[in-house]
Amino acid sequence: MRVDLHIHTTASDGALAPAAVVQAAARGKLDVIAVSDHDTTAGMEEAVAASRDLPLRVIPAIELSTSRNGREIHILSYFIDLASPALREHEERARTARLRRIETMVGRLRDVGAPVEVEAVLAAAGGDFGVVGRPHLAQALVEAGHASSISEAFDRWIGDSHRAFVPNTLLDAAEGVALAREIGGIAVWAHPPGDLADALLPELVRAGLQGIETYRPQSQPDHVRRLEGLARTTGLYTTGGSDWHSPERNGPLGSFTVPADRISAFLEAGGI
Ligand code: AMP
Ligand code: FE
Ligand code: FE
Ligand code: ZN
Repeated sequence: MRVDLHIHTTASDGALAPAAVVQAAARGKLDVIAVSDHDTTAGMEEAVAASRDLPLRVIPAIELSTSRNGREIHILSYFIDLASPALREHEERARTARLRRIETMVGRLRDVGAPVEVEAVLAAAGGDFGVVGRPHLAQALVEAGHASSISEAFDRWIGDSHRAFVPNTLLDAAEGVALAREIGGIAVWAHPPGDLADALLPELVRAGLQGIETYRPQSQPDHVRRLEGLARTTGLYTTGGSDWHSPERNGPLGSFTVPADRISAFLEAGGI
């Protein structure tokens, strides 16, 4: 079975609309994908509808933005209940909080000599934007001539260690795990940073964490082995995915798949 459990669409900061993502996944011969946009499920209905006539299954998911001590921590929730009131409430609060946060970052960028208009960021997010994020701000920085590429914009101005960076602080990491469970999903820590995994994992497990994202396209073998070890000792599922945003950034969908034998327990828990 060919599986990719981490994919973004234009509902957040992906390049393709949900239906186009599903069609591209089918062309890439994927059997199961999870649509996991940042803090929104606005793309889910279109994605699921597009999958109906294709030999492909879409797992409804969301990637919750949380933070701890100024660091961004992303918590995935899989097989979520799309009718959950707590989910609706989070989506609404996150949309506003992300807009305020981008306004703060725009203010800081002005102070460090890289002025952009908030309107330009919202335009990059799409007219009827769902959530606005740093990739949209990066695009506005490129358009304003402050960087020559999205990755340079991150490197020069808005990467995690820069003065203009403001983390998403709506949820603490443990609260994010609890919310991932409350909305009916299986809670998985997305791309756990090497230096945080050991320290934070016990607390997140107590908060209800059920899995860690272990298999990613650029993961180093020793990091993968370490996460597999942590998963074994704490009784967590291992999962994985490409964190797909665009063909330019990630190649075609289906060029990365998760080792099927390593995620069978997770898939079974979700009824696949
Ligand atoms: P945000 O949720 O607004 O903090 O934005 C985080 C998103 O920015 C990630 O999900 C990626 O899509 C993107 N991102 C983070 N770092 C980089 C980078 N160095 N280059 C390009 N995109 C990045
Ligand atoms: Fe993203
Ligand atoms: Fe993420
Ligand atoms: Zn992601």
